[in-house]
Amino acid sequence: MGCDVSRPQRITVLGATGSIGLSTLDVIARHPDRYQAFALSGYSRVDELLALCVRHRPAFAVVPSTEAAARLREGLAAAGCATEVLEGEAGLCQVACAAEVDAVMAAIVGAAGLRPTLAAVEAGKKVLLANKEALVMSGALFMESVRRSGAVLLPIDSEHNAIFQCMPGDYARGLSAVGVRRILLTASGGPFRETPVEALLDVTPEQACAHPNWSMGRKISVDSASMMNKGLELIEACWLFDAVPAKVEVVVHPQSVIHSLVDYVDGSVLAQLGNPDMRTPIANALAWPERIDSGVAPLDLFAIARLDFQAPDEQRFPCLRLARQAAEAGNSAPAVLNAANEVAVEAFLERRIRFPDIAGMIEQVLDQEPVVPLPSLDAVFAADQRARELSREWLRRHGR
Ligand code: NAD
Ligand code: MG
Repeated sequence: MGCDVSRPQRITVLGATGSIGLSTLDVIARHPDRYQAFALSGYSRVDELLALCVRHRPAFAVVPSTEAAARLREGLAAAGCATEVLEGEAGLCQVACAAEVDAVMAAIVGAAGLRPTLAAVEAGKKVLLANKEALVMSGALFMESVRRSGAVLLPIDSEHNAIFQCMPGDYARGLSAVGVRRILLTASGGPFRETPVEALLDVTPEQACAHPNWSMGRKISVDSASMMNKGLELIEACWLFDAVPAKVEVVVHPQSVIHSLVDYVDGSVLAQLGNPDMRTPIANALAWPERIDSGVAPLDLFAIARLDFQAPDEQRFPCLRLARQAAEAGNSAPAVLNAANEVAVEAFLERRIRFPDIAGMIEQVLDQEPVVPLPSLDAVFAADQRARELSREWLRRHGR
């Protein structure tokens, strides 16, 4: 999919008001000759979405409700901005697959992003995938849809973007065929890497959201603290690179300078390095296979001075073990893991459960829910719903 030099590429940003969405708009604004915002979506932050519309002048904006739409329309009219406002999931799907769109940034958090992301895939778009939960929930259907539609799927998650950059161009032939021995998925270890295990009982949402290296949305910040983020990323890597879970090894690397590595059979290990700033993978995917300025400062190796590596501690981070088990079980297990995790993280952020309960709750839900095949999107959402119900039941019994 080459870049038509006669006009800027039109980009839909799903989740424009979030951390990834804002970084995407920052990169887009640096290259008005190459990119133009076509549609932006927001959820709770209507005023922020209004400001983004005034600044980037998209053709469409999408909000969740009629109320929010009325408020946004009023603001747009007052600002003299001609952006058209759409509502709900139908609006998200419409701007994800509109004929005018060249690329879709899928940066809604959680299961809410699945249908619009799949709509972009089915329309054969260039899809920049940040919304890892969508792929974790529906991996087999998602990848099948990519193959059928000819969509170009480019990973935004920094680790997967790094792996993508370290892979040969023909990796779709299969990892063994291209000489890949292992994928080494790096993890910072999050804010609780060295917290005594007993003290994890009392950590607060604020502490969990204070990531040492990355500034991110609240859900992924808690996932990073529990290392469920790495577990979801392990599943994500298996789908993106057609790897069995045993081929993906997690390496704790506290500096977050190496974003992941690929280990080849001849002993070569290729890594991608950079400052921890999501504008690098975003710019990489937007311009791929070309390169553009992202606004990220050059890496200063002398200031970094050293890079450390450790094996992950599954005792401290049971979520990582649970995710690996779900990856191995396949079928509905990753969707159940993801749904239980979404409910658990929200409950933790609302102070209804303690931090170690996140893993405890997910483990019980996984134990209760049989592993079944997911042949359709309806089956995916049914598994997601069952897991959410079991999670809420757990919460009623054990939560505050
Ligand atoms: P965020 O919380 O900052 O933003 C989430 C966005 O999703 C917002 O625009 C919000 O309006 C929208 N949203 C939330 N709930 C919604 C719903 N029910 N329906 C429609 N829209 C909804 O999150 P983020 O940190 O930007 O992460 C977004 C996605 O990218 C996540 O899947 C995350 O795992 C992934 N990701 C983020 C980072 C990062 O550095 N932030 C890195 C890698 C991957
Ligand atoms: Mg990541």
